[in-house]
Amino acid sequence: MFKKEKFTGQKACVLGLGKSGRAAAALLRANGFEVLISEEAAYDNISALTLPQGVEVEVGGHTEKVFSCGFWIKSPGIFPYSPILEEARKRKIPVFSELEVALSFMPKNIRVFAVTGTNGKTTTTALLGEILKEDALTRGIGRKVHVCGNIGSPVSACALDVKRGDDVVIEVSSYQLEDSTYFRPNYACILNVTPDHLDHHGGMKNYIKAKGKVFKNQRENDVLVVNGADVSCAELVEKAKGEVLAFSTHPKHLLKTDVFFDGDELIFSEGHQIRPPQLKGIHNVENAMAAALMALSAGVAADTVQKVFNRFQAMEHRIEHFAYHRGVIYVNDSKATNLDSTVTALKSFEKCHNLWLILGGRDKGASYEVLLPYLKEYCKRVLTIGEAMDKIERELKGYSVTRCGTLERAVETAMRGAAKGDIVILSPACSSFDQFKDFEERGRVFKRLVDAHIFKERTDKKK
Ligand code: ADP
Repeated sequence: MFKKEKFTGQKACVLGLGKSGRAAAALLRANGFEVLISEEAAYDNISALTLPQGVEVEVGGHTEKVFSCGFWIKSPGIFPYSPILEEARKRKIPVFSELEVALSFMPKNIRVFAVTGTNGKTTTTALLGEILKEDALTRGIGRKVHVCGNIGSPVSACALDVKRGDDVVIEVSSYQLEDSTYFRPNYACILNVTPDHLDHHGGMKNYIKAKGKVFKNQRENDVLVVNGADVSCAELVEKAKGEVLAFSTHPKHLLKTDVFFDGDELIFSEGHQIRPPQLKGIHNVENAMAAALMALSAGVAADTVQKVFNRFQAMEHRIEHFAYHRGVIYVNDSKATNLDSTVTALKSFEKCHNLWLILGGRDKGASYEVLLPYLKEYCKRVLTIGEAMDKIERELKGYSVTRCGTLERAVETAMRGAAKGDIVILSPACSSFDQFKDFEERGRVFKRLVDAHIFKERTDKKK
């Protein structure tokens, strides 16, 4: 376990100059450590980054300097079997995750809530964060709720603000979990486990194992919330030491569930009845169930959960209906970066057969074949973009797609062809890194392109 006393006087090496690497460096620096950030990629414009004071930085490759550091902090994106990490293992240099280092600088008597899963993490984390904040407000206690991790600020960036008695709600990715050995949240949740990031983890087995680390160190008094209809969750919970609570919207589930949905309200085995938020799709009912189970088991009143659910709005880039023009609805689901989330998005348009789906980007290793029945059921046209275009076509086995290459061409094609009653949706099932900085940029560009077309058509019409 990372204990700052154990490493006092030693220099820290942070691998990776990304957001979490820089935040970890700042945290260590603030605690008196000398820090080197070592980045493999070349960076043209380091001066544009906000770097912590007094931190040494090397880019464009790791030098011998990294081996003179007493311990390393690995940024989550770095491949676990990269040569540099193999070398650290050989030299017996302790390597910690950013998550574990950040938590070690927080006071002991706090409550840690961790949400993981393939899809729904951000929505569930946001819901839970809001509920816990509302609870603190209702009770009039000074407890602060810190919401961090993949959802926004790195955990390291929050660490210095956390005081005794606070709540820390963390959206945890499989990358963060894979690197963690001692992580022990008091309340953990696994929403679902479907194929994603298989290229990084080297297969489904390792991916499931990483997700299981969210509760591996839990003890008797801790709580684990899982999806009762998910095969991987059902297998994983056999090893749980704490209390297990399950949710499901499926009639067939593998675990005994503690909440079900009657089509209108969530009915809890404890007797509470809570209406879920007004969000599109049955998947969001599951996210609400998970957030509610965690909150209720942490002592929050059902009324408080209801109050938050009543006001909770759809989040940006997640099946976000942002425009309506000439009878066509435009939906931004840029956050759908894997196959399962695209399937979820399609299914949320019940009884629709008129979707124009924009698919593609950087491939993540799973087969697009699973999309076929859904494309046939829901889509009028599929427009492909990005690096994954060839693989998509190959795996869709003759299903006709329109190759567009860029988002710009796809938007043009869809806006020219879509008729009244159609829905144009960006739900790419791929990561964005081939053509964009991240999924947020991809979603914003999509919205800007659509808005620009609408504006042009409207002004042309007036002329
Ligand atoms: P994450 O943070 O895990 O990527 P988000 O809450 O940001 O999840 O949702 C991303 C996309 O994943 C949504 O637009 C939706 O298509 C899909 N999704 C969300 N929740 C679920 C769920 N519980 N089960 C399956 N898919 C989901």
